[in-house]
Amino acid sequence: MTKSDHTAKKQTDIVIIGGGHAGLITAALIGQLDLNCILIDRDDPQKTLDAAFDGRTTAISYGSQKVLQETGAWDALEPHACPIEKIDILDGNSRKNILEFDNKEVGGDIFGWILENRQIRLALYKRLEDCDNVTIIAPSTVTACDTTNDHAAVTLDDGTQITAKLLIGADGRGSFVRRNAGIESRQWSYNQHAIVCTVVHEHPHDNIAVEHFRNEGPFAILPMTDDEDGHHRSSIVWTEDSKKRQTNSFDYDDETFNYALQSRFPDRYGTVKQIGKRFSFPLSLNHAYHYTSQRTALVADAAHGIHPIAGQGLNLGIRDIAALYGLLAQACDTQTDIGSDAQLQRYEQARRLDNTAMAGTTDILNKLFSNDSKVLGFARKAGMHIIAKTPPAKRFFMKQAMGSAGILPALIKDTQ
Ligand SMILES: Cc1cc2nc3c(=O)[nH]c(=O)nc-3n(C[C@H](O)[C@H](O)[C@H](O)COP(=O)(O)OP(=O)(O)OC[C@H]3O[C@@H](n4cnc5c(N)ncnc54)[C@H](O)[C@@H]3O)c2cc1C
Repeated sequence: MTKSDHTAKKQTDIVIIGGGHAGLITAALIGQLDLNCILIDRDDPQKTLDAAFDGRTTAISYGSQKVLQETGAWDALEPHACPIEKIDILDGNSRKNILEFDNKEVGGDIFGWILENRQIRLALYKRLEDCDNVTIIAPSTVTACDTTNDHAAVTLDDGTQITAKLLIGADGRGSFVRRNAGIESRQWSYNQHAIVCTVVHEHPHDNIAVEHFRNEGPFAILPMTDDEDGHHRSSIVWTEDSKKRQTNSFDYDDETFNYALQSRFPDRYGTVKQIGKRFSFPLSLNHAYHYTSQRTALVADAAHGIHPIAGQGLNLGIRDIAALYGLLAQACDTQTDIGSDAQLQRYEQARRLDNTAMAGTTDILNKLFSNDSKVLGFARKAGMHIIAKTPPAKRFFMKQAMGSAGILPALIKDTQ
């Protein structure tokens, strides 16, 4: 599945550190260009495809789907992608919708698709097998990065050295590349964790996603494709306050957990039951003060990790990657330096505002919705009522969810 070739010294055009979704998407796009690229990841690719590695699903927005199409991986993903046609919003302990977003109100375009993380990885690995200009070295850890005016040099744990014109840090929230470059970031913990698992339910979900803003934190039900035996499936993201250990549902026995799930699911799903493993993710915000330094660009979570309340973390990262890809394609056409300061500045300028706006929005949403204050609860209900009755405001939020509003890279804008 991966191409790995360990020798002492290598030279390439671009070296990508990190083979999570961001690194793989970046590599698959570079695979379309006249540039050579080496991607390094510390995890064994085979292990990352195991259902027990990462039980999450990702809501891929309408805009991000265009980028996956450009990578050439979308055709393999489509059969596993469950379209979202409606989003129901519930508030507090009420089991009635306070707000509904229906894709018919935005011309019938799909809001997005729910995909299993392991399916996204599998499709991208397969796609990369056909890209002769991309080499994957994994499992392997980057232990040092150095840059000069005209190149970046990366050292791996087996002593291999790779030099490139551009270093892309796609190595996640704790980014080694970011820290090594001395880039500080703004960060705080939300003192929350998200419990993630898959459930099967008696009745179909009708391609509806549910976001229930409960007092203890948001509870999301995300529609998945049926499994091979025809069982109807959804993925849940159950956010809890980490300080209130007595409510840590992660440790519930199966019977108690299923009982708690049933009480949180709308009746139309019928009987619900958790399958597979439960996963728990601590939630925090992390936003780098700079996305670039000499010969270096940070993308996705390495640059900005946000609260998953709106399911936009990777979608933002995909917009970074699309912007960087546009600049790399231009540099190839004009035969200019792909890692010049001017090029990196353009990348930073293209992405800072969009990422800052989304990081701020998700932060405020979480503060507003993970709160049992009566005053905030009243303001929240009033706000949602106003949105429900104001079609332009409703359309604005729907376009945001689709990833087709805001500052869009050409690759996404041009395909709309
Ligand atoms: C509960 C939850 C639900 C979410 N739901 C959504 C959603 O619905 N939609 C959405 O858009 N986003 C969602 N997100 C956000 C999304 O998961 C992240 O934005 C995305 O996974 C970030 O991908 P990445 O590739 O940047 O980082 P990562 O997935 O962290 O990948 C980083 C990679 O770098 C490698 N690495 C790190 N250091 C080194 C090193 N020194 N050497 C070699 N390799 C290294 C790691 O092994 C890893 O493979 C969610 C997040 C959470 C927590």
